[in-house]
Amino acid sequence: MSRRSKRFVRALVANEQGKIFDLDGYAAAGMACGELIPLTDSDTINMPAGGEHLFLPDRRPIVYNTSSEDFEVLTENPYAPGKQIFPVAAFNAPGYTISLVSAYAEESDAVQLPLFSYGAVGWSRGGFRVAGLRVDPERRQDLRLMPLDKIKKGVTKLRRQMPSNRLSRHLETCALTYGCPAAKNFFLGRYEAPLPTSRNCNARCLGCLSLQEKSSIPSTQKRIDFTPSPDEIAQIAIHHIKRTRRAVVSFGQGCEGEPLLAADVIEPAIRLIRKAVRSGTINMNTNGSLPAVLERLFEAGLDSIRVSMNSVRKSCYGAYFRPRGYGFSDVVDGIDLAGRKGKFVSINYLNLPGFTDAKSEVAALLCFLEDHPVRMIQWRNLNYDPVRYWQVMGSRSKDHELIGIPRLLDRVRQAFPRLKFGYFNPPREKFTV
Ligand code: SF4
Repeated sequence: MSRRSKRFVRALVANEQGKIFDLDGYAAAGMACGELIPLTDSDTINMPAGGEHLFLPDRRPIVYNTSSEDFEVLTENPYAPGKQIFPVAAFNAPGYTISLVSAYAEESDAVQLPLFSYGAVGWSRGGFRVAGLRVDPERRQDLRLMPLDKIKKGVTKLRRQMPSNRLSRHLETCALTYGCPAAKNFFLGRYEAPLPTSRNCNARCLGCLSLQEKSSIPSTQKRIDFTPSPDEIAQIAIHHIKRTRRAVVSFGQGCEGEPLLAADVIEPAIRLIRKAVRSGTINMNTNGSLPAVLERLFEAGLDSIRVSMNSVRKSCYGAYFRPRGYGFSDVVDGIDLAGRKGKFVSINYLNLPGFTDAKSEVAALLCFLEDHPVRMIQWRNLNYDPVRYWQVMGSRSKDHELIGIPRLLDRVRQAFPRLKFGYFNPPREKFTV
């Protein structure tokens, strides 16, 4: 079927003031490492509510000229010569995985992009269309269901109920300043509450949200600067579990380091929680680096873990996580231990088109899932400069043969029909659903 028969999605660009407009005669283009693909209606979805448009400085948009049927790097507005234009990308709402990155060419002095994901986006039938797919139907972080006035009411109420709880004060900043959906849900009594605890980390992820050392990009959240006590942690968790249906409480948030390094307060906190309530799910988002510590926490009552990884290949993992004092084999040991203990294991698969759908990564992932007790893949968009990431990974993996993100998900689903796909940590009531 020639490209001419498909209905193209119109290209979107922005002027110097950041005003977004579409370009007649040009289709939006997506990229995955070196590959360029024009967007069509059939390969895109309506842009989900709650997403944002991003303006990309120091870069030129790559679009598809529907007359010449060729890709072009636009250095100026074709309808206003001399006027600079810039690429536009979509930072999609949680629950959606991007299948293509917004296509652009960097200027020679381009600075690194901040910590967001840069999905391909265009305009069609009177609306924004994005290259992506929904991987989780849950409306856990649907901002339309999280009214600010209700959050503020929740903050005021908690101030009265927990006047000296420092963690509750910290979560106020997370909810009201950083806009953290997990912290907002805590004050609203919905779904999953965050339990940030750790000030330190034994990894140095390129895209760490809470600590960017010697880096040109800002961290998106300030790392927690105190260690809450077991009582403070337990008070937050018990409060949330008692008032929330199918509640989840999670250690390991964007505003902290690695929770396994704070096990000395987390272990007694879990025991306090389980002494007070039997319901609710105690989860840990972790880099999974310390199996012996995980064993202690499972004994204490930890129900599930979500292990972050950008790749299941040691060299690619190492290039992104830059581990200190542990290796990928420790992470694998932690996952196997959790499986032996009957605990629910998700992998927080930080994916990016152009790397995650490379044949070598796909083959490695299928083997990994065959060999290790992973029950769920959370297909999370990697929030990092895509071109810089491909460069880093390119030095570790020479294979650029891509199958496409939608086909990757189909391949995994066919091979492992009982494996859960999603974006959010499930409550234990859904571990087997
Ligand atoms: S494991 Fe988490 S806290 Fe540690 S460097 Fe990576 S993103 Fe940051």
